[in-house]
Amino acid sequence: MPELPDLEIIAAVLAPRVVGRTIRGAEALHPAFLQSTEPPLAELGGRGITGVGRRGKYLLFHLSDGLHLAVHLMRAGWIWHGASRYDATKSTVFRMELDDGNDIRVIEPGFPKLSRGWLLDSLDKEPLAGLGVEPLSDGFTLERFVGLVAGKRRQIKKVLVDQRLIAGIGNAYADEILFAARLSPFRYAHTLDEGELARLWRAIPEVLRWAIDEIRSRVGEGLYQEEERSFLRVHGRAGKPCPECGTPIGEVLLCGQRTDFCPRCQHVDEFPGRTRRS
Ligand SMILES: [Zn+2]
Repeated sequence: MPELPDLEIIAAVLAPRVVGRTIRGAEALHPAFLQSTEPPLAELGGRGITGVGRRGKYLLFHLSDGLHLAVHLMRAGWIWHGASRYDATKSTVFRMELDDGNDIRVIEPGFPKLSRGWLLDSLDKEPLAGLGVEPLSDGFTLERFVGLVAGKRRQIKKVLVDQRLIAGIGNAYADEILFAARLSPFRYAHTLDEGELARLWRAIPEVLRWAIDEIRSRVGEGLYQEEERSFLRVHGRAGKPCPECGTPIGEVLLCGQRTDFCPRCQHVDEFPGRTRRS
């Protein structure tokens, strides 16, 4: 599932290719793709693309006259940019034809197709309205972070991936952030002391910026189809040695999602019972 670093790269790679172009038309090839009803998709025709950005895990196309297209790629979607003359395939869920002979397409192989789009006349509307603070923004201060997290009787990993609190962190980067902060994913947020909260707050933008740099150095100017995560230190590395201490990386299911951690660096042993229970 693309997370904040992936979407930052997609937006940065796509922007120079499509900003300034005019949309000739758009078509949702999968009936569930478009989640908004007003304005209609036909409104895209004739609009210029003024910017490509991101909010949380949504890719945003900013269009002339105050319209925005928000796209959520969910688990398996990706963005394709190429010549309109290539036929859409069964994997194409949405396409926008541009005036330079190219298309922007949302591709999602297999079923069910979960990628979704919203055509919005304001960024203050759902699904964007309820999103939390952007972790790479100036607004992500220690004070704000502590206000969001402190006292919550929920496991800290669940707090980190709650899009209404902090927007853009998913399962993989939550694991990386907690490893960088040397905190167990199973700790309850309300048990974190001042120093631990500050360490976690610092780790969030550090890990996300590190990931953006790592992905960029690997994909260059390409729009990649597979998430580039070979550089991750704990997530997806269950059983392999911790890059810091050599202890085998542990893995448990937390809310049906894989959680990977170093038992030693993240002091998971101090919380027996919690690791298997969720
Ligand atoms: Zn370790």
